[in-house]
Amino acid sequence: MRRPDEPIGVVGAGPAGLAAAITLARGGRRVVVHEARPGVGHRFGGDLQGLENWTTTTDVLDGLRELGITTDFAQLASTQVTAFDAWGGTHRIRGRQPLFYLVVRGPGEDSLDSALLKQAREVGVDVRFNSRKTRIEGPGVLATGPKAADAIAVGYHFETDMSDGAWIILDDDVAPEGYSYLLVMHGRGTVKSCMFSGFKQERMYVERTVDRFQRLIGLDMRNPRAHGGIGNFRVPATAVSGGRPIAGEQAGFQDAFAGFGMRYAILSGVMSARALLGGEPYDPAWRGAMQPTIEASMVNRAVYGSLGNRGYRWLLRSQSWTGDTRAFMRWLYGPGRLRKLLSPWADRQFRSRRHDASCDHVGCTCVWCRCGGDAGNAVPASPAVRPTSVDARESEAVFKESADRATPSAVEPMGGKPHPNHHSLREVLEMP
Ligand SMILES: Cc1cc2nc3c(=O)[nH]c(=O)nc-3n(C[C@H](O)[C@H](O)[C@H](O)COP(=O)(O)OP(=O)(O)OC[C@H]3O[C@@H](n4cnc5c(N)ncnc54)[C@H](O)[C@@H]3O)c2cc1C
Repeated sequence: MRRPDEPIGVVGAGPAGLAAAITLARGGRRVVVHEARPGVGHRFGGDLQGLENWTTTTDVLDGLRELGITTDFAQLASTQVTAFDAWGGTHRIRGRQPLFYLVVRGPGEDSLDSALLKQAREVGVDVRFNSRKTRIEGPGVLATGPKAADAIAVGYHFETDMSDGAWIILDDDVAPEGYSYLLVMHGRGTVKSCMFSGFKQERMYVERTVDRFQRLIGLDMRNPRAHGGIGNFRVPATAVSGGRPIAGEQAGFQDAFAGFGMRYAILSGVMSARALLGGEPYDPAWRGAMQPTIEASMVNRAVYGSLGNRGYRWLLRSQSWTGDTRAFMRWLYGPGRLRKLLSPWADRQFRSRRHDASCDHVGCTCVWCRCGGDAGNAVPASPAVRPTSVDARESEAVFKESADRATPSAVEPMGGKPHPNHHSLREVLEMP
């Protein structure tokens, strides 16, 4: 029998874990958050990310406030993005309302992570850093971030005199099946190739991305620091394991089309906490609130991945004819007969990139396809990519460590019919 005064352990101080902790503490529970790293957001260190604002008619910031989550962090409403196709053609992407809000990630004082940490502490959450948990005793939430690389985003952080803005390039030559992006906010920027295949050539794609942005808009970087990370998408059969909810990207909650996972992380964190507080059980809650858009994002991903450069250009033209890309995106992520019909096909298309076809596995030490074990970063040192791989490897190491040591029940979905894309942790670790 569980006592109501028994502290609840939350593993991981990312947006999912902190949102869960805040909600639990506001609900009157004692909460201890265990974070493996020395502070919040270490995986991101000053990254700029977009808080997606198209999957609901409600503005995402209002939505966060309604959930009781702070919005007291630096933010920049982005109603415009300049997009380039593979031929250098320019396409305006415009929303009548913000398409997303640029936010800062990492331990810096104006970051989303620091704001969540501050709120958590204000409501009495005990956050313990350098506390890598390998097992949860008693009630808890598992929120340890991505397990594997279904996509990677690799590039640089830098300082700049460029004006605020957002730019993307849709071209398989710079970001296979993905997109390259450049974000600038208040004198700092990030430029990345977000790729869904071809991970083995990450360095080449980063160099091409930087070169392309320099030619197209005169990208100006001061003090560039390499950075990168991984994204992990799937619809789990269940996000409860051993009676404990799994929140955020650890459960696979991500936007498979474009990688905008923060909103799902926060929402799932709040829902996991509400379930522990006696509200709606977690599985039905996240299925109702998130599964439709995540499944739509998987269909979008499968379609997008088969379009090629001409198709991307067609997509850019189509969205510009609508006059409001936010509405276009909401349609793209919305329910629809065609999307439902395409769903089984998309399911078959989507296979974890743990089997990276671009890797021949001969003498391979690459992180992404997992055939290199801990050697991980054997890519020859180059200023373009070396530290990015180190960053990704660290997040992999965190995963590996928690996977190796955690009780299987704490991390492996139990019961129900496994989703075709789901692999148990053991399977993941044993994959060739
Ligand atoms: C380069 C890049 C760019 C991105 N851009 C965007 C974007 O523009 N918009 C967007 O919405 N999303 C973006 N994302 C995705 C977004 O960052 C994630 O979806 C989100 O951070 C997931 O939150 P989380 O809380 O689930 O996991 P995380 O943020 O990864 O947090 C998990 C935490 O758990 C800790 N941890 C892990 N294992 C243990 C353990 N055993 N014990 C204790 N602690 C542990 C980790 O150190 C980490 O702090 C991007 C991701 C990357 C990599």
